Amino acid sequence: MKQRADLLVDAEVVLTMDAEERILLGGSVAVLADRIVAVGDRSSVHGDFDADRVIDAGDHLVMPGLVNTHTHLFGPFTRGLVNDLSFTPWIQKKFYLTSKGLNEETYYLSTLMGCLDMLKTGTTTFVDCGTCQGLEESAVRGVVEAGSRAMLSRTMADIQDDLAEFLDRPGMDTEQNLRETEAYVKEFDQSGDGRIRAWVCPIQVSSVSDDLALGAMEIAQKYDVGFAIHSNVDREDIANHHTLFGLRPIERFHKLGILNERFLGTHMGWLSDLEVQLLRDSGASAVHCPSASMKGGYGAISKGKFPELLQEEVTVGLGTDGPAASCYHDMFREVYLAATAHKEARLDHTLISPYQALKMATHGSAKAVLMADEIGSLEVGKKADLIALDLMRPEWVPWHEDNLISNLVYSSTGSSVDLVIVDGRIVVEDSCILTIDEQWLLREMQGKVAPFVQLSREWDQKFWPQARGRL
Ligand SMILES: [Zn+2]
Repeated sequence: MKQRADLLVDAEVVLTMDAEERILLGGSVAVLADRIVAVGDRSSVHGDFDADRVIDAGDHLVMPGLVNTHTHLFGPFTRGLVNDLSFTPWIQKKFYLTSKGLNEETYYLSTLMGCLDMLKTGTTTFVDCGTCQGLEESAVRGVVEAGSRAMLSRTMADIQDDLAEFLDRPGMDTEQNLRETEAYVKEFDQSGDGRIRAWVCPIQVSSVSDDLALGAMEIAQKYDVGFAIHSNVDREDIANHHTLFGLRPIERFHKLGILNERFLGTHMGWLSDLEVQLLRDSGASAVHCPSASMKGGYGAISKGKFPELLQEEVTVGLGTDGPAASCYHDMFREVYLAATAHKEARLDHTLISPYQALKMATHGSAKAVLMADEIGSLEVGKKADLIALDLMRPEWVPWHEDNLISNLVYSSTGSSVDLVIVDGRIVVEDSCILTIDEQWLLREMQGKVAPFVQLSREWDQKFWPQARGRL
């Protein structure tokens, strides 16, 4: 007798990204509630399961949803407004716009916009690194409605330095930060049917005292959540940190005893050999955001040690960064950069294969967000987070067994994605999002951008006149 499933997805290709690296031609995935209950040849899955619905994704490649380990939901209104500045003024301008411009309504819209952008390009899970204090409910509401899976990491900072100069939020008191963040984790963790994890986010290595970092990790351990932080971003970041603490960031966190598998350091472009070893030995994770580095001139490609981190089997996730940084949310473009940029920088075509880059966006990112057993591959028992890409598009044809991974990484983008399932629920079908009124959202965003443009011009005039009028 056949078993029951809610949904069967048939596809020309099923790219499992599992430990055996199985690629099934003519495969099927069976889904029951929020879980995958079968992955295999079409005939055997259909022989074992009866489903309420069968999606015939012929001419499609089905794979796990991508995991974006770094973005900022506060960013969409600032898209394209914060360019070509060095590290400190770039952060100052970003916070000037967002802390003065966002309110409950616009942060909710901004959250929906980020989710829309990610879902339609195949990202089913993401880390928001810096969920705004005071506006947390807007972010949670947006993610719940959009249907994404997310780690919403609440911003904390308690050092009033150059980076915090323009920051209206958050409050700078260490104890208050920790108290409110613990209350936030208690209230929102596991909301949205468990799709939302409420993480802690000491925002930036130089903006966080030892006490705040220690307290944040204590909360992360107590509630079994992650600890996200911007770390080792570029030369300026390392210099700022050294001035304040007399150590490189990863050395300091090692000394504090908070480097562990919950530690998610983002950018990590300037690591010493010792810091690479400390990451390896502690099980901490590094997030690679190649597009943000290339646009911001951070040095993660030309000076970074991502090939070495992979070699040392450090967990490395991929991230787009927010729309004020890289300006886009398409993780396939990030995979492309991870698979190409290091070859150029080191003059070595053997570095980071296309499949390795894909693994960073799936398995690696899933491990980095503490969900390696739940997402990141298509396997029985894992969450039903999967996407389908249309193979009959100009960027794919001709495709065949021998160029499949190459086409996926080097030729395709997130525009090929036309079906997205999160937690067993179809959220994008035939390239249309089912959870959000897309046209309404686009018009709302467009209609509410004027104050952000005004703030951008105001900042340029007051603080960085040389940035004005650049084309
Ligand atoms: Zn960031």
